[in-house]
Amino acid sequence: MASAPKGKKIIDLSQPLTTTGGSYCNGHPHFTCERICNIAAHGSNVSHISFGSHTGTHVDAPVHFFDTGASIGEVDISLLVGPPWWWMYEGGTNET
Ligand SMILES: [Zn+2]
Repeated sequence: MASAPKGKKIIDLSQPLTTTGGSYCNGHPHFTCERICNIAAHGSNVSHISFGSHTGTHVDAPVHFFDTGASIGEVDISLLVGPPWWWMYEGGTNET
């Protein structure tokens, strides 16, 4: 586990990936994890994992919503570190 800089606290917001439950959007692939190699037969344990990019705790790259948006590899990672903030969406209205 990473240690926080002096005077800072790291809060891990990640949620575990499970093959049951969780929140998925309609039509998005669900998380699967299957052991495909084991130590006895292959010398190491290897799993095949599969899931949609909109699964579990994640960051949506701009390209998720905009065809010409940046991919996650193009996003400046320093933008993802800093004071916490949150956004709560309630209902289907677009109130500001
Ligand atoms: Zn997403």
